[in-house]
Amino acid sequence: MPVGQVIRSHSNIYYVLVDGREVECRPRGKFRLDRLQVRAGDEVEVTLAPDGEGRIEKVLPRRNCLERPPVANVDQCLVVFTLVEPEADYLFLDRVLVHVEQAGVEPLILLNKIDLVEEADVAAFVRLYGDLVGYRVLPISAAEGRGLDELRRHLAGKTSVLAGHSGVGKSRLVRALEPQRADVRIGDLSAKSRKGRHTTRHVELIPLTGGGLLADAPGFTYLEFQDIDKWTLRDCFREFARYQAECRYADCLHRKEPDCAVRDAVEAGAIPESRHRNYLMFLDEVEAMKRW
Ligand code: GDP
Ligand code: ZN
Repeated sequence: MPVGQVIRSHSNIYYVLVDGREVECRPRGKFRLDRLQVRAGDEVEVTLAPDGEGRIEKVLPRRNCLERPPVANVDQCLVVFTLVEPEADYLFLDRVLVHVEQAGVEPLILLNKIDLVEEADVAAFVRLYGDLVGYRVLPISAAEGRGLDELRRHLAGKTSVLAGHSGVGKSRLVRALEPQRADVRIGDLSAKSRKGRHTTRHVELIPLTGGGLLADAPGFTYLEFQDIDKWTLRDCFREFARYQAECRYADCLHRKEPDCAVRDAVEAGAIPESRHRNYLMFLDEVEAMKRW
């Protein structure tokens, strides 16, 4: 039975990408399929009728599932960041990265607007978040098209969502990637859905020219930490892992505990000081939430 991926839906019709072809599908009657049960990104088994229409027989188990935007099986999050216009906001970046880690999605940091900054500043950022923290970092300029060929290679064969402050260039980036699709707009689903539980806007996965799918609404814009305990938060800082086995206490939170290998690594410059400082702020936040 052919397997495809749902890219958008309308009423009770689901558009499924099967072997690169978009097939209009209706859910099979015996399944009570509603918007909660089938969403963009879902991998589904379909049967194809002679007239070309399809029927969804089964939704395959999800690898992960985001609520905002409501997309299943997300492979990576393109975290768009800038050093200027808007000015670098590392606290915001680290907050987004924690949410992405917690969702079980792999981040790809896109340092955009490199046409506006010195090469040395780009290199310093790559050293911090690439070499020291261990993320994939890609310097790009959506305006000048720099780095986009390499980005296309990262996008091929994957389902991606965008994240990042307003003004960092998410919409411009999508226009640069898909110039022939003037109709595509990167909406802001999460801002709308915060007002109420029911949102009328549907998320759509855009099939990219070079392969891969990209959600047309950004994610990870909710800023408060919810349902996260202190140790999970700690483990969302992936650069700690290499050192924390050497901490005296296995449950060390790298705050004021004696013989803390993570704090030693911060002092030695092996972990960015700003990352550890932001982590401690988040830790305070998580503890304050618990007291409520
Ligand atoms: P969004 O809010 O993240 O969707 O940001 P936009 O795509 O609307 O971009 C905000 C502003 O930054 C716009 O004026 C863009 O033209 C500009 N911009 C986006 N990418 C670049 C870039 O790589 N270089 C420069 N110089 N400007 C850019
Ligand atoms: Zn420690």
